[in-house]
Amino acid sequence: MALSLLVGCFPTYSEKRRAAALAQRDAAPSVESAKGVDLPWRVIGHSVKGRPIRAATIGSGPRRVLWIGGIHGDEREGRVATRELPAAFLATSGAKERVSLTILEDVNPDGSAANTRGNANGVDLNRNYPSKNFQAERRYGMKPLSQPEARALHDFVQKMQFDLVIVAHSWHGDHFINFDGPARGAAELFAKHSGYRVRDSGDMNPTPGSLGSWVGRTLGKGILTLEYLRGREPWAAWEETKGGILAAILDGVADARAPAAEDETL
Ligand SMILES: [Zn+2]
Repeated sequence: MALSLLVGCFPTYSEKRRAAALAQRDAAPSVESAKGVDLPWRVIGHSVKGRPIRAATIGSGPRRVLWIGGIHGDEREGRVATRELPAAFLATSGAKERVSLTILEDVNPDGSAANTRGNANGVDLNRNYPSKNFQAERRYGMKPLSQPEARALHDFVQKMQFDLVIVAHSWHGDHFINFDGPARGAAELFAKHSGYRVRDSGDMNPTPGSLGSWVGRTLGKGILTLEYLRGREPWAAWEETKGGILAAILDGVADARAPAAEDETL
């Protein structure tokens, strides 16, 4: 009786240890230098194993763009791009006045640590979003947003209302830029500056419950899925896409088919 009362009233040793570990991780310096740029990191959620999911916003322009460094843990070709992008963005004339750029370094830190596509539950986080095409399967999650990493990104995207999302992946045997929602113009601009070709989601295999399906079709916002060549050396991957990424961030219009900004002719 006494023992069960005690157990009910106080956190167990393992709960305390887990809380202490999380506090220690989150207490890491909130400002960290990446290539000479101080990034104001904040923790937007935690992975299954309690790793922080971090994001930092630089620039103060009205256009809101989100860069996601990775969602599949075994696709790390974009990691140099994620590290180098802040300095390249700030070095671009007028960028910080026009755009608020948020860097989300990694949605799947457990998968990155273990070099697995899915998270620590074996769920593909790019199939766990509440889009119309969501498919309940063990490897996709039995419910949309069943995984803490997917919930963290979902809530963050809802709160921040980005105009454009760019997410880095990699693909066996090819590289290209794929888009969902009103982002054809941004994809074409990226393609022009990188030499990557544009692939429409409609021409590809279905990706039920993907971030692209949810952001592009459910929310109606533009999203680019940047597929690096699997195994591409990350520095080379950054060098060949740097111009395209910056162009899409700065100038990617909502849709190339839409009329150009009308106020320029008025
Ligand atoms: Zn991927």
